[in-house]
Amino acid sequence: MIYLDNASTTPCLESSAEILKQALLESYYNPSAKYKPAVESNKQLDASRTEILRLVGANPSEYAVVFTGSATEANNLVLNSSFNKHRENIISVGEHSSVYETAKSLANNGYRLVEVGLNSAGELDIDDFKSRMNKDVAFVSVMIVSNETGAINDLKTITKIAKTINPQCLVHADAVQAFCKIKINLSELGVDYLTISAHKIHGPKGVGALIYNKKCKLNPHILGGGQEMGKRSGTENLPAILALVNSAKIMHSQLAENFDLVKTFKLNLLACIKKYAAENSLELVVNGDPESSSPYILSIGFIGTKGEVLLHSLESEGVLVGTGSACNSKHSGNRTLSGMGRKNREVETNIRLSFSPESVSVDPESLAKLIVLLAKKHNSK
Ligand code: PLP
Repeated sequence: MIYLDNASTTPCLESSAEILKQALLESYYNPSAKYKPAVESNKQLDASRTEILRLVGANPSEYAVVFTGSATEANNLVLNSSFNKHRENIISVGEHSSVYETAKSLANNGYRLVEVGLNSAGELDIDDFKSRMNKDVAFVSVMIVSNETGAINDLKTITKIAKTINPQCLVHADAVQAFCKIKINLSELGVDYLTISAHKIHGPKGVGALIYNKKCKLNPHILGGGQEMGKRSGTENLPAILALVNSAKIMHSQLAENFDLVKTFKLNLLACIKKYAAENSLELVVNGDPESSSPYILSIGFIGTKGEVLLHSLESEGVLVGTGSACNSKHSGNRTLSGMGRKNREVETNIRLSFSPESVSVDPESLAKLIVLLAKKHNSK
């Protein structure tokens, strides 16, 4: 089996699974309890926060970490707290549904929401953003890497524009597809809030985090025993947090090397797909700029071949890919692809191949041949 749906989720590293097991079976104490082993667990929890801050380049005197049950929860936490009822709030049309649907729900409850468009490469349209940014905008949420196309947004510039126009404007970056995959440094980006998730970086499912600037407001969203600085009550999932930190440390230490490996693989694969598509007179659609986007995501299609049909055909040959975000599969259409100007006949062809460092062991030539062969078989053009 060839697994190419790593933007959806990744297998957990053996060492992280071992840590998870050890913590569940042996050091299972409640970090809030008062006896020594629990105090030790609490120390591990604090050390985990420090480590996450180090890995995102955040100064611990300025930023703090709230561990959550997912990135979806972290995004809900920050939007529900930071959307401003009396002023404007900006998101991009390409945001993950955990941001987009939360923003829409707030808008339905009277909050003022402005949606900024994408350019043809799937990045936030900076000119559109500049034209909509004004002194009345209190909150901006833009993802760093698109889960659909891999397009990379320049959060440093976006934050600078926002804060130059309104120094009080708060900026959130969803870094789920960026963390441990492309270089990010929170202090350089200047954002106030950052979301990460464990299961996209070979950690366990069911754990994420929101990193936030301590000067910024963050309202509690689950009330109870006051864990997580009172922002998210409930006994902390320390085993999963320890496994997240282990995966993050390992993937972060290999970031540069993996980036180059995966980029070479993606570009080789795309070159082979282009060659075979041309030989078979298939019209290839490539969503995003392959050179400047994240090497971990390749979004393509063949005019006349439905993406979902191709997905299942590849599955029957042992190759697992996605059609856009798995989190989007319950909604029809594709906001990101339409937002970057793709017509329906292009959008419906979409498959998303997403890689991990393991993927580079696949032969790009034979994979490309198979993809094109199956695309041709199911082509109705
Ligand atoms: N944000 C982005 C950009 C994502 O790609 C995803 C998952 O696909 C999420 C948020 C949600 O992550 P989680 O599965 O941890 O809730």
